Amino acid sequence: MMITLKEAAQKIKAANKILITAHIQPDGDAIGSTLALMQMLRSIGKSAQIFIDDTVRKNLHALPHFEEIRRPEDGEKFDADLMIVLDTSIDRIGGVRKLTDAPILNIDHHVTNKGGDFELYVETSAAATCEIIFKLAAELEVEITPEIATCLYTGLATDTGFFQFSNTRAETLATASELIRRGVSPHFISEQLEQKSLSEVRGLSAALNSLKMFYDEKVAGMILDHDTAKKFDSTEGFIDEIRVIETVDVAFLITEKAPNFCRVSMRSKGVNVAQIADKLGGGGHIRAAGCTLKMPLDEAEKILVAAIGEAL
Ligand code: AMP
Ligand code: MN
Ligand code: MN
Repeated sequence: MMITLKEAAQKIKAANKILITAHIQPDGDAIGSTLALMQMLRSIGKSAQIFIDDTVRKNLHALPHFEEIRRPEDGEKFDADLMIVLDTSIDRIGGVRKLTDAPILNIDHHVTNKGGDFELYVETSAAATCEIIFKLAAELEVEITPEIATCLYTGLATDTGFFQFSNTRAETLATASELIRRGVSPHFISEQLEQKSLSEVRGLSAALNSLKMFYDEKVAGMILDHDTAKKFDSTEGFIDEIRVIETVDVAFLITEKAPNFCRVSMRSKGVNVAQIADKLGGGGHIRAAGCTLKMPLDEAEKILVAAIGEAL
């Protein structure tokens, strides 16, 4: 059931023990929004705990309260009277789903979020879930501390490619401006976020070497097999290096995380890649989407290239 942000705030005010989660393969928006919300809820006397069922990229570890994020263990239960799911539909939260039977409140900005038998606030024009959480702070009458502001700014910056992508709107920059007023240092956050390990940079070189072009150079793809991919811990940002090719509308990266388990990322300048990802069992936004294909790498490539060709 779709609700308003005011109703979401009322739901939160009525709860006391709140479990917060976000999607697996967490990005800056997932981590930033959960950490900000946890601090906000605690400041109004709620008990709040974040669980995320995945490892988190190193350059997000310095965010305030990061060390308090827990990963659910097999068979573990958590006593809560509300579970808040941020930045994803509830099918991408892994084992967190089994921690509690508490009612769910889902807050998200993905067009592919189809909701379910629970309350959903989805704002697809928001650049990041962090933009929504900033507005929620006003509804909850919470003061934005420098620590909360830092978490929110991180989500805004990462989901917009540092305010460059098409999802950047006036409200995004107004929110960022407000967060800077509350104590954020954009320069400090940018420097931390852009850090890469040596192996990641070497990985980028391997990825660029795998570049393939399709459909009159309208589509560019990089394909990383498991042997190559396992040498480095993250492929974040790789796809942006080929999205810029002047002829390219759709860029993709397929990473064979394990045999028969291929992660797909897509970016576009026009084509609706959320629709392509949705058809393949994933989701995302019009110009940034992804899915997981549980099949051999060459088969995944064929299916993906065909689906993109259909959409062109
Ligand atoms: P990424 O390419 O991993 O940065 O993801 C781009 C966008 O697509 C993000 O908004 C993700 O939340 C979304 N996305 C990526 N993979 C999936 C998936 N398997 N299912 C649903 N959404 C996804
Ligand atoms: Mn995200
Ligand atoms: Mn997001």
